[in-house]
Amino acid sequence: MNIGFSTGSFHKITANKNSNKVLQYLLKLGCNTVELSSLDISEVQNIQNIDIQLLEKFKYRFLHAPALDFKYDQGKETYRILDKLLELQQKYKFDSIGLHPDRVTDWSVFGDYTHLPLAIENMNSRKNTGKTVEDINILITKYGFKFLFDIQHCFSCDPKGDLADQFYAHLGNDIVEIHISGYKGDNYKHTLSHKNNQENILAKIRDMKLPIVIESPAPSLSEIEKELSYIREFLSKHLHADL
Ligand SMILES: [Zn+2]
Repeated sequence: MNIGFSTGSFHKITANKNSNKVLQYLLKLGCNTVELSSLDISEVQNIQNIDIQLLEKFKYRFLHAPALDFKYDQGKETYRILDKLLELQQKYKFDSIGLHPDRVTDWSVFGDYTHLPLAIENMNSRKNTGKTVEDINILITKYGFKFLFDIQHCFSCDPKGDLADQFYAHLGNDIVEIHISGYKGDNYKHTLSHKNNQENILAKIRDMKLPIVIESPAPSLSEIEKELSYIREFLSKHLHADL
């Protein structure tokens, strides 16, 4: 099973979520997939301290580009961040780098960074753009991005789950990574799937070919382990796959 966590899941557990210690722990749990989360620009710098040989033990390695306090445009700061991402990409060879479309005000800047394997993520109900198949399809077609499919975000926009089916139907071949986590009611916040028994989100996963990244934030390592077991067990039954 190609599964693992975003290091963002550890932000309540440790002050340095992008650490060799977190990676070692994930390998111990049997995860073969990881996403290094640098949602805040200050976190990009820390990534370079990750041990390459340790990261290479994961079959799938992803990076999440800054998304919280930053807008991508033609300004100096955007070039500084994209230069840094390029440097990290050359060093660590990530399978893809996740990007939130609502953070981009000028797409032309990415024309100078065609070596970055960018994957556009579909957004949650709180955002104005990047939520529909059309929004994402335009960007994929125009700029050649890959698709980072966040199933929890689909449910935050459409609790019936039809949107998730539409994304699979139209952009299934462009998916390079799947994000999952739970959510409470119509709340967009990521939560632990096992706490809310959130099988509806997990049931949308169609096969185990694509790597799955769990984004649920956990308050302790035991909750990380419970979340992983819950998701693994559900998927192995649902898809008749090996744990
Ligand atoms: Zn996500």
